[in-house]
Amino acid sequence: MTSLRLDYVALTDVGLRRSTNQDSGYASGRLIAVADGMGGAAAGDLASAEAMNIIRELDRDLPDIDPMDALGRAVTHANARLGELVRHDPSVEGMGTTLEAMLWDGERFATAHIGDSRAYLLRDGELRQVSADHTFVQSLVDEGKITPAEARVHPHRSLLLRVMLGRDDNEADFDWVEGQEGDRFLLCSDGLSDMVDHATMEALLGSETIDLAATELVRHALEAGGYDNVTVVIGELTDAAADLDDHLSSSDRRPQLVGAAADGPRARTGQDLGHGETADPVVSRQGAIDPEEIRYAPQPPSRWRWARRAAVLLVLVGVIAAASVYGYRWSQDQYFVAESDGRVAVYRGIQADIPGLTLNTVEQVTQLQTDTLPEFTARQVRDGIGASSRADARQIVTDLESFAPEPEPSPSPSESPSPSPSDDETSSALAAAGQVHP
Ligand code: CA
Repeated sequence: MTSLRLDYVALTDVGLRRSTNQDSGYASGRLIAVADGMGGAAAGDLASAEAMNIIRELDRDLPDIDPMDALGRAVTHANARLGELVRHDPSVEGMGTTLEAMLWDGERFATAHIGDSRAYLLRDGELRQVSADHTFVQSLVDEGKITPAEARVHPHRSLLLRVMLGRDDNEADFDWVEGQEGDRFLLCSDGLSDMVDHATMEALLGSETIDLAATELVRHALEAGGYDNVTVVIGELTDAAADLDDHLSSSDRRPQLVGAAADGPRARTGQDLGHGETADPVVSRQGAIDPEEIRYAPQPPSRWRWARRAAVLLVLVGVIAAASVYGYRWSQDQYFVAESDGRVAVYRGIQADIPGLTLNTVEQVTQLQTDTLPEFTARQVRDGIGASSRADARQIVTDLESFAPEPEPSPSPSESPSPSPSDDETSSALAAAGQVHP
């Protein structure tokens, strides 16, 4: 069996739309890895750099340790480190990173995968995605609801179901991947896979050398818009006995570290990261909301989720209670004139029909019979006439009394009864007094 060597290249570009690179990439003869940090400009680069700096510690002799065990421990360690950073500085809560890592043991790769960064294999000219995205759209593809082509342009394609957040509830996938001579493995952030289609990727990854392939892939992502940071790490399995190609960047066999992990995460204003960095006030002036932050919106830390919901509920209940008290007090300052047992009465409160609720009480029942009023006016009374105050209500009653026939202690038969005012006159008289509601 041919002994195999891993040639490699790592390349990253901030892209055309972003001001910072939150991706990290690493490549060596043992390890290739990509981490795509998220959580906004404040923390995405910190998350990816911290995770990558822990993962790349695997790039050494690991005597008597199973590569998969070593990788598993490194991933657990990286996740714990993110949790520690969030506890130390709550302003970075919600930060996280994807991780794509392949550890070569001379015969096969131990791989770790979480998030939507991808691993591809180009073998015999054919490109195949080795990893399965931990995304909402991938779950739709798995259920047969949309096609992979539809997933690429889906509006929620960047929504992640799993990512390294420093918590216990997001597990990475671990697997062994066999390799053979001539295989080219491509690890990339979504800044590449979102911008360059599968066929183009397949053609470009087959370029004469892996260095040229990396350059061409990044260039195509930028030409397609370069909306995101784009990181490409390629490992190629070659015959270990073959001479090193002087034209390859890996011919010096030195590890290549790119992106946030190489630049060093920028310090957050007023925060000590525990590495002795000083705060950079420029960071805090980046006011715009980074769309990457939205990817985390559906996943607030579970321990706070219920507390936030409870707080919102409490505030709502408080608002409703305050409004009810205010509303009740307001209703009790209102008056109206209406009928009670056939007589004109002054009511306190408001006229409303709410089942189970009494919003008014009779304040005073007058001697005035509604029936004695002109028909139109009587109807107004039965419908209720609003008043602005108690005094106003009494004035309305006084006005109504003037429409009623005089008491008739000794009506003279010779006297013709004085004609009662017509409905129209009643209406206009009340209207003039400002008391009739239309
Ligand atoms: Ca990205």
